[in-house]
Amino acid sequence: MGRRVALVAGGAGFLGSHLCDRLIGEGARVLCVDSLVTGTMDNIAHLVGREGFRFLRHDATEPLDPGETVTEIFNLACPASPIKYAIDPVHTFRTSVLGTMNLLELARATGARLVQASTSEVYGDPAISPQHEGYWGNVNPVGPRSCYDEGKRGAETLCHDYRRQHGVEARIARIFNTYGPRMARDDGRVVSNFIVQALTGLPLTVYGTGEQTRSFCYVDDLVEGLMRLMAASGRVPGPINLGNPGEFTMLELADMVLAKTGSASTLSFAPLPRDDPRQRRPDIALAGRVLGWAPQVTLDEGLDRTIPYFAQLIHKGQTGE
Ligand code: NAD
Ligand code: UDP
Repeated sequence: MGRRVALVAGGAGFLGSHLCDRLIGEGARVLCVDSLVTGTMDNIAHLVGREGFRFLRHDATEPLDPGETVTEIFNLACPASPIKYAIDPVHTFRTSVLGTMNLLELARATGARLVQASTSEVYGDPAISPQHEGYWGNVNPVGPRSCYDEGKRGAETLCHDYRRQHGVEARIARIFNTYGPRMARDDGRVVSNFIVQALTGLPLTVYGTGEQTRSFCYVDDLVEGLMRLMAASGRVPGPINLGNPGEFTMLELADMVLAKTGSASTLSFAPLPRDDPRQRRPDIALAGRVLGWAPQVTLDEGLDRTIPYFAQLIHKGQTGE
């Protein structure tokens, strides 16, 4: 068998850069493709110049000629923070749909296997809990989150149809809220917001009553799940949830962050954004059966690993070091 060549679209982002690390660590060649719209070169600076790593600045909405035969494609290209994906909603939608189609065409031409980073947002504001893969979701097609949610749903449809119609081995990971080092300081998602606010003495911005829930997965667990999904032999049956079933209210998260940082920050309440899901918790039985996967890192441990990263980032920002 020839050498593994993995294309990671969105590889300079939070999740993508950890995936690149893992692939390089396993001896794969990595072609990291990113437009840098939300990702940064800082995330991959340690990889640039390393044997087997190549970066290509490219917008996934344009067709891509990688210049070498790729054997696997991870499609993570898409802004993931609600604040970021709403800045240019049309481009977000184009990224999900056209970007995925371009990569599926590449997979079709090369025979590469493709793993699509889908999202728990395909379940919208779910009417059932926990959410299993057979649930079709409750999504507003014309709201502020639609460019992301419906874009990702469209991308799933494309993966499914490229498989049926063209035999492309496309696999879908429905990723639930994931956090960890390398999230951007201004990312806007709740874990990074709360930690940065606590460390800088600002009030923690709780949207709504803070009683809405999320399930938070540590980045290393998620990367392990994506790697297993790519490696699984035989036919993978439809989309697979990847997330940590531990479910927390935003008030509980705020309390944990305050306790761990020893911060005297207060809570400030702001209106709940429109269409903000009230609950989210993955049913991960399928991932267990098909991939033998389950998350290992609790929120408690994951926060202990993430807080020092933000403390260092803030220190660098203050001292210019
Ligand atoms: P991120 O914003 O840090 O990473 C996304 C990367 O994609 C960035 O580097 C960005 O520059 C790049 N990108 C965006 N649009 C692009 C385009 N048109 N062409 C090329 N590159 C483009 O976000 P993340 O948290 O690392 O998310 C990665 C992927 O995982 C996304 O597809 C996201 O939808 C999915 N996901 C993430 C989570 C999570 O909680 N982190 C949850 C569900 C799904
Ligand atoms: N949230 C919050 N304060 C913040 C950022 C987010 O209370 O500073 C809430 C948000 O309204 C949502 C939850 O935290 O209910 C998770 O939001 P995030 O943007 O992290 O992810 P998503 O909504 O995509 O699950």
